[in-house]
Amino acid sequence: MSRPPAKPPQTRTAWRPPGRWAAFLHNLFSGRCRFCQARSLACPLCPGCREDLPWISAACERCGLPLASGEPLCAGCRTAPPPLDRTRVIWTYSDGVDDLIRAFKLHEDLAAGRLLTELAAAALHQRRTPCQGPLVPMPLHPTRYRRRGFNQSALIAGWLGPPVASSLIRRHRYTAPQRGQTAADRRTNLHGAFRLQRPPPPAVTLVDDVVTTGASLAAVADCLRQGGVKRIEVIALARAI
Ligand SMILES: [Zn+2]
Ligand SMILES: [Zn+2]
Repeated sequence: MSRPPAKPPQTRTAWRPPGRWAAFLHNLFSGRCRFCQARSLACPLCPGCREDLPWISAACERCGLPLASGEPLCAGCRTAPPPLDRTRVIWTYSDGVDDLIRAFKLHEDLAAGRLLTELAAAALHQRRTPCQGPLVPMPLHPTRYRRRGFNQSALIAGWLGPPVASSLIRRHRYTAPQRGQTAADRRTNLHGAFRLQRPPPPAVTLVDDVVTTGASLAAVADCLRQGGVKRIEVIALARAI
């Protein structure tokens, strides 16, 4: 029995057709809302579903934690502020935003990531508070990058627009996902996991997809501060609550 010819080894690159592009084009031209399937000129989300996304209207200026009151800082940041000057997060990680981010990260659904990024860019534009310094995507360890094939934060930063400093900082130590650890434990665990690749500018805006405990952001910010960065801001799509 003859064997089928061996397939050449696949190399994973950030832009690999055709699966992701097929999904992207389907979503773009289907004319239906991605959530409720209603016919919509405002594809891929109809105005109602867009409005129903879990927008964060008031949040802690330092860490992005949603706040019910009009206070500028959450209790945690009043007592132990993170090494971040400002954090802007668009949604809570819930109510459909979580599904879109999972589709983006885990199933390479670039259309989902791009949709959220474009909505986020419009929301940030309305606030009329420009980014400080270049956008710096949260780095992925090379092992995780090879496994996933792309860095979701780098794609978000690229879609948000220039200037992007994607190779400013590198994650050189792999740390396993740390469920159940406190933010302080995670930050300790991540100490020294990041390294600057060149002298940084005086101000940067870190870009992340989801902020969980904020420990990774704090660890990157520690590294940037040691390198002399004076102002560090964060833009993230969603925040776990
Ligand atoms: Zn809809
Ligand atoms: Zn806070």
